[in-house]
Amino acid sequence: MKIQMVDLKSQYEKIKDEINAGIQECIDNTAFINGPAVKEFQQEFEKYLNVKHVIPCANGTDALQIAMMALDLKPGDEVICPAFTYVATAEVIGLLGLKPIMVDVDENTFNIALEGLENYITPKTKAIVPVHLYGQSAEMKKILDFAEKHNLFVIEDNAQAIGSDYIFPDGTTMKTGTIGHIGCTSFFPSKNLGCYGDGGALMTNDDDLAARIRMIANHGQQKKYYHKVLGCNSRLDTIQAAILKVKLKQLDQYSVSRNQMAAYYDENLKEVPEIQIPERVKNATHVFHQYTLKVKNGKRDELQQYLAGKDIPSMIYYPLPLYRQEAFEQYVEEGFSLPVTEKLCSEVISLPVHTEFNQQVSDYIISEIKNFFKTNN
Ligand SMILES: *Cc1c(COP(=O)(O)O)cnc(C)c1O
Repeated sequence: MKIQMVDLKSQYEKIKDEINAGIQECIDNTAFINGPAVKEFQQEFEKYLNVKHVIPCANGTDALQIAMMALDLKPGDEVICPAFTYVATAEVIGLLGLKPIMVDVDENTFNIALEGLENYITPKTKAIVPVHLYGQSAEMKKILDFAEKHNLFVIEDNAQAIGSDYIFPDGTTMKTGTIGHIGCTSFFPSKNLGCYGDGGALMTNDDDLAARIRMIANHGQQKKYYHKVLGCNSRLDTIQAAILKVKLKQLDQYSVSRNQMAAYYDENLKEVPEIQIPERVKNATHVFHQYTLKVKNGKRDELQQYLAGKDIPSMIYYPLPLYRQEAFEQYVEEGFSLPVTEKLCSEVISLPVHTEFNQQVSDYIISEIKNFFKTNN
């Protein structure tokens, strides 16, 4: 058996009949675009998230772009985002003629760091994009307070944390992605709630924003063939919605299994002095989109090679800070650098996380990691 980063195949085996029936129904009805499953999924997802509006779209990157468009930002406006994230977060900012202001992250949580953030505020700062990296919420209370103080929109990039909870100091619990003005998520197959192709969604509790988002995602029209603003064509396919309806019912169980595998890694790897297991914050539930270790002895790349030799896949999310990417050169001064982001890019390594816990697989991965450090300490 080959170990995968994500066990989509064994996951499918368990829900095969329901998935196949859902897909077959779409084909039988030839309702490929805006078929009934899209609305059904939307409503079920709204209920699950306890949010007023879900607006499905074509992928997570589109969701972020549409969010920025809906806020009516002007060219040259500045949007704060972490430098340690997937490219999509900052890419759409630049694409719309806005300026990504890339900031550092917290060394332990991997999420946007609040300290020193004030220094980045200018009269042009209009929005902040926290990313709930690897499946655990950013410090949303502090981010909301900061945003309110400086009159900023908050767009949550929730592509990696769907299903996780954020707990406010007063005990109020909210699903990540429903806390800021707009939340964005992705249904890319390997995401925690993944479809069998591309898909995404926006979430908001604001009626006016929801109407604007819907309009923008649909060529800027509310009435067919009457276009109010320039929009885009971004829809969730009916077949993908039918698949997501089935998988949404499993999402909480998937999070339980991911946590089980993460706890098992924690328990067995916490004593290895050369690595640091991921920190769990008290005010959020982790859904372990990624289980990410920090390798402290400079041998991260060697560890990855060693594991590959043992048929154990691993991933580096992310090897290069955004501000070092050629595509982002124009947004930073030469030599710009953020210390924590730099460090994490050379230390992090993500291990397989599965939704069907398999002790044999976990034991094998753990024992090979220990073997590596026995000779490479
Ligand atoms: C996956 C991901 C996206 C983009 O999602 P797509 O559906 O692939 O466009 C955006 N942000 C983050 C943090 C992601 O992990």
